[in-house]
Amino acid sequence: EISSTRENNVAKIKVVVRKRPLNKKEISRKEDDIVTVSENALTVHEPKLKVDLTAYVEKHEFCFDAVLDEHVNNDEVYHATVEPIIPIIFQRTKATCFAYGQTGSGKTFTMQPLPLRAAQDLVRFLHQPIYRNQRFKLWLSYFEIYGGKLFDLLSDRKYFPFLSFLAYLLTSGLTLLAQAQFVAYAKRRFSLHCVSLVYTGMKLCMREDGRQQVCIVGLQEFEVSDVQVVKEYIERGNSARSTGSTGANEESSRSHAILQLVVKKHPEIKESKRNNDVNESKAGKVVGKISFIDLAGSERGADTTDNDRQTRIEGAEINKSLLALKECIRALDNDQIHIPFRGSKLTEVLRDSFVGNSRTVMISCISPNAGSCEHTLNTLRYADRVK
Ligand code: ADP
Ligand code: MG
Repeated sequence: EISSTRENNVAKIKVVVRKRPLNKKEISRKEDDIVTVSENALTVHEPKLKVDLTAYVEKHEFCFDAVLDEHVNNDEVYHATVEPIIPIIFQRTKATCFAYGQTGSGKTFTMQPLPLRAAQDLVRFLHQPIYRNQRFKLWLSYFEIYGGKLFDLLSDRKYFPFLSFLAYLLTSGLTLLAQAQFVAYAKRRFSLHCVSLVYTGMKLCMREDGRQQVCIVGLQEFEVSDVQVVKEYIERGNSARSTGSTGANEESSRSHAILQLVVKKHPEIKESKRNNDVNESKAGKVVGKISFIDLAGSERGADTTDNDRQTRIEGAEINKSLLALKECIRALDNDQIHIPFRGSKLTEVLRDSFVGNSRTVMISCISPNAGSCEHTLNTLRYADRVK
């Protein structure tokens, strides 16, 4: 049963921290786990050296809406973050769920299963008697922001698979050759070139319509009425995301991946007048939506002194977008009328999720090992500022 009081029970902004377990490599290096969790608080034990080189530990304590330790599984993450928002998506809510953290801290691991679970629940709602007759439909889109530009991850342009396959062959060929340092450099330059080549055909642009809705021109939306289909789209998008990469985490850590599930209400149309799916999705009126955002690695924002020009530009762009995001969420929290969404492409795209009835969940992912201490503290301070 859905009641209007339920809406008020879901906090407007929720900040959750998730700690991952030590991985095999960290264990084999005998690294210490420096993060302890107790209920919704956590402590970072930072190893330090005095001037006379005696070791000591500095403690940093933080408190959040929830802290999930290394024993918490993805189902429990879903219960703690997205699940409470699902019923109010049908009551004109725009929700966003972010995963923030350094590369390797578990953002993708955390984020991947969430849209699938959410779609499952949304589809279940659509089939409830009160919604069944309202011509509600669920639409999915998946895109990324790379270097301040938008790219569709589900584009079905016909030359795309061919080009990405070619780029894949070239980069993997070069990976085999990449033994000497200069070859590794050439490989990175060249694969970036391939990535942009493949992407040129599907770069998207954005505009706002009169009703304060953000419209991404050319972005494909797909109707999803069962969860298996959602799974296929997610997998397709993920593979588009990684074909442009040299290593598993290398390129994907420099882009923000955004998956949106949109509930639309459709006018009655006669069978004979029905156009293709894309036009039909335009015809529907947005009721509510939820966006899942796997942010670029937070440490990438510091790449502004790198020797490589491209890397520097990307680093500056990432830095800008993460700062703008923080400012927008803070403005939301203070019920500010002016939301500084123009600060970056990321926040511009999310503009309509920052106005009106919105809900934001920030999942900050942290690595527990001593070697990541500085990044972990940076992530926690960012999360702390958002709250
Ligand atoms: P990111 O997307 O932040 O760069 P990943 O999600 O790719 O990080 O995680 C890095 C590695 O750690 C992956 O191999 C992933 O499977 C593993 N990992 C992350 N979080 C967890 C967790 N909570 N439990 C078990 N393994 C995890
Ligand atoms: Mg990732």
